[in-house]
Amino acid sequence: MEEGIIIKGIGGFYYVKVDDKIYECRARGVFRKKKITPLVGDKVKIRINEEDNSGYIEEIQKRKTELIRPPVANVNHAVIVFAVKKPDPNLWLLDRFLLLAESQDLDITICFNKIDLVDEKDTQEFINIYKKAGYRILTTSCKTGKGIDRLREILKDKITVFAGPSGVGKSTLLNNVQPNLQLKTGEVSQKTKRGRHTTRCAELLELNIGGWVVDTPGFSSLKIDYIEDDELGLYFREINDYSVDCKFTGCRHYKEPGCAVKEAVENEAISKLRYENYLKFLDELKKNRRY
Ligand code: GDP
Ligand code: ZN
Repeated sequence: MEEGIIIKGIGGFYYVKVDDKIYECRARGVFRKKKITPLVGDKVKIRINEEDNSGYIEEIQKRKTELIRPPVANVNHAVIVFAVKKPDPNLWLLDRFLLLAESQDLDITICFNKIDLVDEKDTQEFINIYKKAGYRILTTSCKTGKGIDRLREILKDKITVFAGPSGVGKSTLLNNVQPNLQLKTGEVSQKTKRGRHTTRCAELLELNIGGWVVDTPGFSSLKIDYIEDDELGLYFREINDYSVDCKFTGCRHYKEPGCAVKEAVENEAISKLRYENYLKFLDELKKNRRY
């Protein structure tokens, strides 16, 4: 048997890349019995029929991660893209994307694009908030080429999903990393004539330098209701770091006495803006629980 990765799935066929070849595969019936559907991104073992380059998926490796939207397995890195201008960065929305990526256990790069449109020193204030929180930050421009080599280097050997609002330059960035690698744009919920049960599947795009990019932007739903309010603090890196010194176990860093996180906010070791957004998410999650 050969080992490969599913890069595309259409109507019961899975396209599995093994070294430099792609095999059109079906899944063994046993997966249906076990209610397991192979996903794009799955590392699989296939039995190959060399006569017509077809094959059968015999084994699916345990998934490291599993995104729902788009449905892709084993994504390990998110590039969260915001523009520094046009549109202006919305840090509340950035924190939501970060929360979604953190809760899926992804490595994260924050990319501030369109840096050509501003004086770079005007961006230091909000960039520092995220540097201080412990994030890898990249400033890029598709106009001048700034940061593109570094972005390419960061993507190497990872399975990456790009995320961020529309119009920030996700597709253009990817095309600058490697010409002809374009993200699919347009509404995800577009109705097609093929019927309402047909959803457009994600595909993996291969990078010349090694690694893969999901062809559809990530976290299109922005829903956080699967997150428990008592785990929210885990997904804010700096809050998680300070929380070990909170007096109460299970401290939500809201009104509890002896909260090390609140103290860190007062000392400006934790950004006030990040903490306020944390409280807003906490409130949103609590409201979801009330019925
Ligand atoms: P997406 O919706 O996030 O995929 O954004 P697009 O890649 O479609 O880009 C949206 C618009 O921003 C396009 O008109 C791009 O030409 C423009 N754009 C992308 N990157 C840059 C950049 O670095 N600087 C400037 N000035 N414009 C950019
Ligand atoms: Zn606390």
